[in-house]
Amino acid sequence: MTAPAERRLSRRDFVGTAGSCLAHLSLMSSAASPFVRGAWAGVATGAAPAGSVVAEEPWGRLERIAEGVWAMVSTPLTGDRTTLCNGGLVAGRNGVLMVEAFASDAGAKWMASQAVALTGRAPTHVLLTHYHSDHSGGVRGAIDGGGAKLRLTDATRALVTERNAGAPADLLRDAELVNAGATTSLDLGGRTVTLRPLDGHTPSDVAVRVEEASVVFCGDLVWNGMFPNYVDAVPSRLTSSVKALRDLRGATYVPGHGSVATPAGLDRYLALLESVEAAARRAVERGITAEAAGAEYRIPGPLGEWVLFNPRYFERAIGAWLKELAAPR
Ligand SMILES: [Zn+2]
Repeated sequence: MTAPAERRLSRRDFVGTAGSCLAHLSLMSSAASPFVRGAWAGVATGAAPAGSVVAEEPWGRLERIAEGVWAMVSTPLTGDRTTLCNGGLVAGRNGVLMVEAFASDAGAKWMASQAVALTGRAPTHVLLTHYHSDHSGGVRGAIDGGGAKLRLTDATRALVTERNAGAPADLLRDAELVNAGATTSLDLGGRTVTLRPLDGHTPSDVAVRVEEASVVFCGDLVWNGMFPNYVDAVPSRLTSSVKALRDLRGATYVPGHGSVATPAGLDRYLALLESVEAAARRAVERGITAEAAGAEYRIPGPLGEWVLFNPRYFERAIGAWLKELAAPR
């Protein structure tokens, strides 16, 4: 999608291409703001990673964030959506977990090849945090030939099957189901990860905690510096799931989109979710639509600036709240 040379385009050129391959991208703030220049420089160059960068491509960078733990931070603002979502690798003596199957077979295959390069083995487990296609589109690329076991909840399997074009029925049929009713653990050999079923971004989300490293892979329950997509959200559940992630006392949070976060970053995100709720409750009091409230909504200044993938994300977020607040209890 994006030739390497395009990564070196100026911001002016970048905006100029937005009508074609980046039609959905808009930015929250004035294009001249230092944040936007910084974010653009960051996504284009892979600057300011949380850990040491072990591999970098137009679509993202792989960061070592703890011993045997790597976070994939996708940089789709470059226009290259090979991986699109974040995820990662967790290595133990007996196995390697790949978190997410990413947006495409090519992206998932690239991640599997990184596992081989870094750990000497292909992933033995591939876990989907939820059904959205930017996290699950590369299942075949992740599994084929390597013999990894696909893990996902039953609800996520049903949603991938029903809603995603070209869902790999054979691999889904052979998947190992993650318990959606209780936290379970996966022993990778000298390394335990826990799989915690949650919800709120979708009807079934799973968070992965690497016990010894205090790393939490949040799936799309958490976005960092990018305003979240509420397309399937039940907003009150989303907020309580994010609070549950905070209780996991991670030192390092890998969000579904955006750079790796600290606990302070998670708190900033929670404050963002609460400001959206407040805006929705004001809209109910005033009897205005989600469209009108979304057009008025501004992220509180102290929360900094957030990139919008889509100009309608505010309306969608407030609309999700209006739907929930109007539902009979
Ligand atoms: Zn998602």
